[in-house]
Amino acid sequence: MISVQSLEKRYGSVRAVSDVSFEVARGEIVGLLGHNGAGKTTVMKIMTGFLEPTRGTITVGGVDVRQDRIGVQRQIGYLPESAPLYPEMLVQEYLMMMAELRGIPAEKRRAALSDAVRATGLEGWLTRPIHTLSKGYRQRTGLAGAILHKPEVLVLDEPTNGLDPVQIIEIRNLIRRLAQDTTIILSTHILSEIEAVCSRVVILIDGHLAANNTLAELLSTDVVRLAVAAGTAGVAEKLTALPGVLEVRPMDGAGGLDRYRVKVESPAVAPAIVKAATGAGWTVSEVAPATPSLEQVFRDLMADHVSRARGKAA
Ligand code: ATP
Repeated sequence: MISVQSLEKRYGSVRAVSDVSFEVARGEIVGLLGHNGAGKTTVMKIMTGFLEPTRGTITVGGVDVRQDRIGVQRQIGYLPESAPLYPEMLVQEYLMMMAELRGIPAEKRRAALSDAVRATGLEGWLTRPIHTLSKGYRQRTGLAGAILHKPEVLVLDEPTNGLDPVQIIEIRNLIRRLAQDTTIILSTHILSEIEAVCSRVVILIDGHLAANNTLAELLSTDVVRLAVAAGTAGVAEKLTALPGVLEVRPMDGAGGLDRYRVKVESPAVAPAIVKAATGAGWTVSEVAPATPSLEQVFRDLMADHVSRARGKAA
């Protein structure tokens, strides 16, 4: 449904997006995850035709956004990070104006409006001035405006930003409902948002693609947690040499212990780790299988990116 190929965007000397490629299939909810300034908004603005890429292409439903911006915008509903709502307008006035701007024929506007209002749970709020709405209901109004023309794709930039916990749950439920007939790409820097809503995650770090996987793939790595007495020498070297050990990462140590996360091909490698540790005479406090959290995966990717960047700079 969406294809991003070798995308690059420079703002003067700032390279905001570097050689990013990924695809989104019809019906998916894909999370675009990254720290502040990672390039998420830039990718979304290019995808929705509001910004020209420096290089690369994005197609939506086979239409190249550079060649047919209007054709792409017809297929997309876009909710920018701060949706431009007019505070003095009533909800229905705003939605009618959006329907007109969207080019929906006059005789079809009422039906389009009532479908969007039903989908976003705005019944009963139509005659309220927008400035009297809570942030959550303002966000619903923005979403209703974005789906009036029944787009095949919804692009949502940090849709729960600034909402309270109850509103966050409501908007996430709404996004899941909308996903029943729409392909959705949403950006966030909140890891739990990805776990709550998305089936796949595209991770950007400093404008680079750091991961493009289903959550199951990202979290399926087998890990053994190991804690040994603080100051034990040669742990990473010895364990990395074992068959079936993919990677050894030191973690934050405390309480007189050094902690490691050992990525393994399968949990069956754990006994060999115990054997190597006892054989080397280490004082072992813990060896336990574990599943990495999305936070750990993200931190590992950040650490890899930083050490690669340092390696290049050296
Ligand atoms: P956030 O979560 O803070 O919204 P983001 O991941 O959406 O961040 P972008 O807004 O795409 O990131 O910004 C990516 C980089 O490009 C940042 O370094 C930002 O400062 C820079 N940038 C964005 N817009 C411009 C601009 N108009 N001119 C110059 N630099 C820009």
